[in-house]
Amino acid sequence: MIRVEHLSKHFGPVAVLTDVNAHIRQGEVISIIGPSGTGKSTFLRCLNLLDQPSSGRILIDGQDILAAGVKVAQLRQRMGMVFQSFNLFPHLTALGNLCIGPVQLRGHSRVQAAARGLELLKMVGLAEKAHSLPHELSGGQKQRVAIARCLSMEPEIILFDEPTSALDPTMVGEVLAVIRRLARDGMTLAIVTHEMDFARQVSSRVFYMDQGIIYEEGPPQQIFEAPQQQRTRDFIRRVR
Ligand code: ADP
Ligand code: MG
Repeated sequence: MIRVEHLSKHFGPVAVLTDVNAHIRQGEVISIIGPSGTGKSTFLRCLNLLDQPSSGRILIDGQDILAAGVKVAQLRQRMGMVFQSFNLFPHLTALGNLCIGPVQLRGHSRVQAAARGLELLKMVGLAEKAHSLPHELSGGQKQRVAIARCLSMEPEIILFDEPTSALDPTMVGEVLAVIRRLARDGMTLAIVTHEMDFARQVSSRVFYMDQGIIYEEGPPQQIFEAPQQQRTRDFIRRVR
């Protein structure tokens, strides 16, 4: 579904991604782990062109998204993103946050969008919060609304950038439970996370990023129990 070839990204003279090669198949759940500052967020942001890659190729279903004429808005509809900081529209209710994309970008009617929005809120356990504003919700509730909003656009893959890092520890579980459910339902996911137990349980493959590349990748048993590279071993020992 996604193939990344020789991706690099510089910010001015600073090389953040140097040569990233990866693929993600449909239905896979990829966890991306590694020390901070090693380019994990930049990698996700390059995939949906929030950051413009400096060189390399990103193919989605064989189509090069860096080619001229690619519509970024369409690309972002296919690839949803959930951020650490939720990024809900503060002046819209939970349901309003779920309707705006389908109505404005996909031409759905308000009635249709609201019906689907309510279903999605129910799925993340927040039907009773449909008419609450973001500031009336807890962090965990806001993040569940953000995930539901992402789903309202019917993406083919969802990119999560540390979805639980901003949350009070008591709220981490409720958000991870929603992501687990998406994984079980066969959604394609790429998740930057520091939740190692979660990553071990939910992932089909784990990417260990370090120094601007995917240093090691493999099934969770390999990365967590028998890493092949010294740097991976050191990292896993540190975060245990
Ligand atoms: P991670 O998500 O692994 O913590 P990031 O992808 O956020 O790492 O950042 C990798 C490096 O790139 C960091 O050193 C960071 O300071 C730098 N960086 C990220 N975004 C920018 C930017 N917009 N301008 C300049 N430097 C950036
Ligand atoms: Mg980051």
